[in-house]
Amino acid sequence: MPDQPQKKIQKKPTPAQLLERLGLVKDMDFIVHLPLRYEDQTQIHEIASLAIGEYAQIEATVTQQTLLQHPRKQLHALVRDHSGELLVRLLHFYPSQIKQFAEGSFLRLRGEVRRGFNTALEMVHPKVTQAGTPLAATLTPIYPTTDGLSQPALRKAILEALERGNLIDTLSEKVREHYGLIDFASAVTQLHYPAVEQSSALLNQSHPAWDRIKFDELLAQQLSLTAARARRALLKAPAIASSKKLTHQLTTALSFTLTGAQQRVIAEIDQDLQRTQPMNRLLQGDVGSGKTIVAAFAAVQAIEQGYQVALMAPTELLAEQHQQKLTAWLAPLGIQVDWLSGSLTPAQRRQANERIALGTSQLIVGTQALIQETVQFHQLGLVILDEQHRFGVEQRLELSRKGTLSMAQLGADLLPHQLNMSATPIPRTLALTFYSDLDVSIIDELPPGRTPVQTKLLAADRRLEMMDRVRLAVQEGQQVYWVCPLVEESEALQLQTAVDTYEQMAQELAPLRVGLLHGRMNSAEKNQVMASFRAAELDVLVATTVIEVGVDVPNATIMVIEHAERYGLAQLHQLRGRVGRGHKVSFCILMYQAPLSAVARERLRAMYETTDGFEIAQRDLTIRGPGEFLGVRQSGQMLLRFANLDQDSDLILQAKECAAYLYQHQPEQAAAHVQRWLGAKEEFLRG
Ligand code: ADP
Ligand code: MG
Repeated sequence: MPDQPQKKIQKKPTPAQLLERLGLVKDMDFIVHLPLRYEDQTQIHEIASLAIGEYAQIEATVTQQTLLQHPRKQLHALVRDHSGELLVRLLHFYPSQIKQFAEGSFLRLRGEVRRGFNTALEMVHPKVTQAGTPLAATLTPIYPTTDGLSQPALRKAILEALERGNLIDTLSEKVREHYGLIDFASAVTQLHYPAVEQSSALLNQSHPAWDRIKFDELLAQQLSLTAARARRALLKAPAIASSKKLTHQLTTALSFTLTGAQQRVIAEIDQDLQRTQPMNRLLQGDVGSGKTIVAAFAAVQAIEQGYQVALMAPTELLAEQHQQKLTAWLAPLGIQVDWLSGSLTPAQRRQANERIALGTSQLIVGTQALIQETVQFHQLGLVILDEQHRFGVEQRLELSRKGTLSMAQLGADLLPHQLNMSATPIPRTLALTFYSDLDVSIIDELPPGRTPVQTKLLAADRRLEMMDRVRLAVQEGQQVYWVCPLVEESEALQLQTAVDTYEQMAQELAPLRVGLLHGRMNSAEKNQVMASFRAAELDVLVATTVIEVGVDVPNATIMVIEHAERYGLAQLHQLRGRVGRGHKVSFCILMYQAPLSAVARERLRAMYETTDGFEIAQRDLTIRGPGEFLGVRQSGQMLLRFANLDQDSDLILQAKECAAYLYQHQPEQAAAHVQRWLGAKEEFLRG
C-alpha cells in the first residue's frame, strides 16, 4: 500500500485501511493494541469539588449563553450544578452547538478543568454527551490512533476482537504460578478496561497485567530463538581437532603473552571447532582488547587440519591491516596468507582466485570481495567476520554457502564454523534476547601496560588553545588524529569538509606535517597515508570516520573530534579507542558546539564518565533503544513493543528459562504461544 505512487485524487481510506495503517489486521493485533491512557467516565463529579488540571465529568444545566464577537468569535456557556458554577468556552463552533448549549439544556460534559478568567473554573471544548445515560463501569481506554479513525470506532473494533478473540491461556496454571503471573484473559481485559483504582498502576506499568504481557512477549521471542538454536543443532560441520603444533609455535613466536581472557576465549573456540555442529560464536572485546590474535589462533587450528580460513573485514583499511598483522604472525610458521580486495588488478585477482581455488592460500583476508561469484574456496572450514554487525545477513550467508560448496567432497551440506568478532559491545540484556541463539565469548581484560585514555570536553570556541596543545604534543614526539565534523547529508559535503579542515590545519599548524584520510580516496592512497602516519612521517592525521575501526598506531596519543555532538556514542567510543594503545598517557578531546541537545549532552557525559565499552553500550541502549545495535540483524526479527531491555532484565531471564522448559515439556503450548505472538512471521517448529 505505501509503495504506490500518490494519485492526484486521493480516495478516502476505508476503516479497514486505517486500521491496517496502525498494524491492526488479525485479532491478536487488536488485542495487544494497548491504551495510551484512560479516561474516567465512571462517575459524575460535583463542580465544587473540581481541582485545576483534573480531567472530570460533570452534569450541569446551562444558565447563560453569550456569543462574543471580539476579539474573535467565541461561545461562552455558564453551567451550574447543585454545588457550583463553571464556564464552558468554545473557540470555534457550529450553529448546532449554539442550540446544544441553549439556556436550560442539561448536559454531561467531560474535559480538563482549567483556571478561568472571570469564573474560577472553565472547560474549553469539553466532550458533550447526553446527561442521565448509564455511566461506564470501568475506565475508558484512549488508544493510539491515526487521522480519520475516531476513538469510538477504534474502541469498538478492539472490543469486538476481544470478545471474538480466543483468549485461552497459552501458559498452564502451573507455569503461571511458578512465575507469579496472572492469566492472559484477565491481563488483556484489565489493560483495556481497568477498574478505576487500577489506573495509576497501569499507567506506570507496575500492574501485574503488564508483567504478564511483557513476559508473554519475551517468551515468544525466546521460544523462537530456542527453535533457531535447535535447528542449528541439526546442522553439520567438519570436526576440527585441537592443534598440536602450530598453536605452540605461534605462542612461542609472539612478542607478548596472551592475557587470561584471550587464553580462555581461545580455549572456548578450540572446543567449538572440535564439534560436528557449526560454531556460531560471537567474540566480543572492547577496542584494543586483542581480538585479532584470537582469530589467528582459531585460524591456525583449522589450517593445521587442512582447512582453509577466510577472514572478512568491512573496510579495505581494516582488511589491509589484518593482512599485514596476520602475515607477520603466520608467514614465519609457513602459512600462506592471501589477500583479496576490490583494489586488485584483474590479473592479480585472477591469480589470487587460482591460489584460493587450489588451496595454496590457507588464510584469505579480504573485504566483501571474498563473496564475489568468481571466488571458489578449497575446503573452507572456518569463516571469521570482523566487526560482524557491519555485514548484512545475506553477506554472511553467502560466505557460509561458499564454505559448504567448497567442502562438498567431504560430505553433504557441511557448514563452515563461524567466528563473529565485534568491538561494539552488546549490552547483556540485548545479548540475552536478540542474540541468544549465538554463543558469546567476552574478552574482558585489556593487554597490560595500557593507560586509560583521558577524555576532555572542549567548547568549539577554544579551538586555538587546542592547536597549541597539538603543537606541544608533536614537539614531544607524539602524533595526533584530528577527526573532522561529520556531515551525514551528503558524501560530497563530507569530502569538502574533510579537505577544508585539512587545508586549514596544514596552514595553521605549519611547519607540522599534516596528512588527510577520507573515504573517497582509493585504497592505494589510503594505505600510503596510513603507512606514512605509522612511520611517523606525518604528525597530524586529519580524517573522517574511515579511521573508526581497526586502525592501530600506538604512537598516536591525541584524538581530537570536532563537532563531537554529531557522532553517536558507539562511534565516539570506537574513535577514542584509536589512542591509548601505547605506554604514554593519551587524550581524547571532544570539541562541541553549544547549545547541545539533551541527547547529545547525555552522550558526551557518558563519554566523559566512563571508558568501559559495556557501560557505554548499556547507556547507548538507554539513550537510543535497541535498534542501532541490532542493525542489519533485526531484519525479520521482531523488536520488542512492551518489554524494555533496560528495565525488564529479570523478566528476560525468567522468559528464557520458561522457554527452555516449554520447548522440552510442552511443545504444543510453546507452538500456540509463538503462533499467538509471532503468527506467520515465525517458522516455529519448522524442523
Ligand atoms: P581489537 O580487539 O581492537 O581488534 P587488536 O587485535 O587490534 O585489538 O589488538 C590491539 C593491539 O594490542 C595490537 O597491537 C595487538 O598486537 C596488541 N595485543 C594483543 N594482545 C596483546 C597482549 N596479550 N599483550 C600485549 N599486546 C597485545
Ligand atoms: Mg579489531
